[in-house]
Amino acid sequence: MEPWDVTIVGGGVLGTSFAYWLAARYEGRIAVLEKEANVAAHTSRRNTGVVHRPFYLDPQARRVFARCAQVAYGMWKGYAERRRLPWRPIGTFEVATRPEGVGRLDKYFGWGLANGMGEDELQVLTAAEVRRHEPNVRSHGAIWSKTDTAVDYESFTKSVREDAEAAGARFLLGSEVAAVDVKADHLEVRFAAPDADLVYVDPRRRIRARISQGAEPLRTRFLLNCAGGNSIDLAHRLGVGLEYTDLHFRGEYWEIDPASHFLASRNIYTVPRHPDLPFLDPHWIIRADGRREIGPNAVPVAGPYTYRGFGNPSEIPHKIFESPLRNKLRLLVNPDFLTLAAEEWASSISKRVMTKRAREFLPALKEDNLIRPGTAGVRASVVDRRGIFMKEAIELAGPHSYHITNYNSPGATGAPAYAAWTVLRLARSGLLDHLKPRATKRPGPWDFDAVTAAIEAPAAPPSEAMVAVAGTGPKQP
Ligand SMILES: Cc1cc2nc3c(=O)[nH]c(=O)nc-3n(C[C@H](O)[C@H](O)[C@H](O)COP(=O)(O)OP(=O)(O)OC[C@H]3O[C@@H](n4cnc5c(N)ncnc54)[C@H](O)[C@@H]3O)c2cc1C
Repeated sequence: MEPWDVTIVGGGVLGTSFAYWLAARYEGRIAVLEKEANVAAHTSRRNTGVVHRPFYLDPQARRVFARCAQVAYGMWKGYAERRRLPWRPIGTFEVATRPEGVGRLDKYFGWGLANGMGEDELQVLTAAEVRRHEPNVRSHGAIWSKTDTAVDYESFTKSVREDAEAAGARFLLGSEVAAVDVKADHLEVRFAAPDADLVYVDPRRRIRARISQGAEPLRTRFLLNCAGGNSIDLAHRLGVGLEYTDLHFRGEYWEIDPASHFLASRNIYTVPRHPDLPFLDPHWIIRADGRREIGPNAVPVAGPYTYRGFGNPSEIPHKIFESPLRNKLRLLVNPDFLTLAAEEWASSISKRVMTKRAREFLPALKEDNLIRPGTAGVRASVVDRRGIFMKEAIELAGPHSYHITNYNSPGATGAPAYAAWTVLRLARSGLLDHLKPRATKRPGPWDFDAVTAAIEAPAAPPSEAMVAVAGTGPKQP
């Protein structure tokens, strides 16, 4: 059988967006290899479900995520409308719980504008104004991001999968990539089988996998690694990104008793105590279906799919001592990491501690209001040689392959824009030269040229422009 032209490992929101753009723009055989029975089975479903507006992203240090989030807002908005998917504009108050946090609100206002948000989408509020809008919220002031929106990224991803399939991409579900062998002009992908014996696929790096011995390997001319929490491991299998390692932190939410939903009618975030670890501060979230949740914490776990407990005890030493060990040793002197250890792990899964922390901005909240565990998702944080947590997504070229790792929040927001822009850059660098561009533009939900031009423009255009662009595709019945 002829090799596939491109295989994408990972059917999360990112891999699925890539599948759509590649199939829409190129002729050729494009496949998504997803180990689960459906797309969006992991982080792309188990997240907070917010389309984040980029007011809190430094336009320089977080430029890529900021720009992609800004452009993708209009894309998702138009898409949700046309496909009749949940779109609940909630708005977010990011509140200063300490006087020293107030200065940050003006900074966020400036960042939001620099990232392309409109002045009518942001407002800095005094403590009294916050109380007028949200009487139960205590603060020293807030920034109000009026267009933050609650969505369901699982349904978005499933719908984009349909678009990708309509454009010609194939989704090979239940296909877990265990090993990849490099050949002269292609790769051979071998699959895992749950009942196979663990064998070393790379003894030097102590990487073991359950390889399905009988099955034919899949041949591909190019592989795009979008394996989320597994992406660094997969890159290592191809000898790529060996300077990086990762740690997994489970973020857990608690669902709020409906009788207490009145406590706040918008998302309430707080100005982070440690701006480099913003995921440590709990927030009050309104879900697309109206549920309210409080969280998350950040519990260290053995692997990307450890949604309960701490993971298989036999995997924990492997995770701690896996190569490169130096990165993890350096972490032990990294102040961010020490903060995480001191402030977060002690509180771990405790409902009492979570309530106490949320009371900083919602003093009326009681422990009894947290009725059951809500969403739990695992964040894979990549650590470099200096023992520093990386902030932006990391892209690495490898043999017949390209690897995207550390693709964290607000990654779901920015995915369709980031995927389009990355396809453009891959094409410019010649990595897609083996694909034949389609002679005529396919109708579809978004306009590639408009999206990529908006990302590359000095300042992203107002989001309304992208809604107009998004409106060029066919209407769904
Ligand atoms: C707690 C939490 C809350 C978040 N909240 C938000 C939010 O509100 N808004 C926002 O914009 N972002 C949010 N994010 C970030 C966002 O969810 C992620 O950036 C995004 O979902 C990443 O998508 P992905 O496709 O890269 O990864 P994933 O969704 O993890 O997809 C990777 C896929 O690869 C598959 N895979 C892995 N290994 C293999 C293999 N060997 N073979 C085959 N398949 C494989 C997996 O099964 C998985 O389906 C949140 C993240 C977390 C952890």
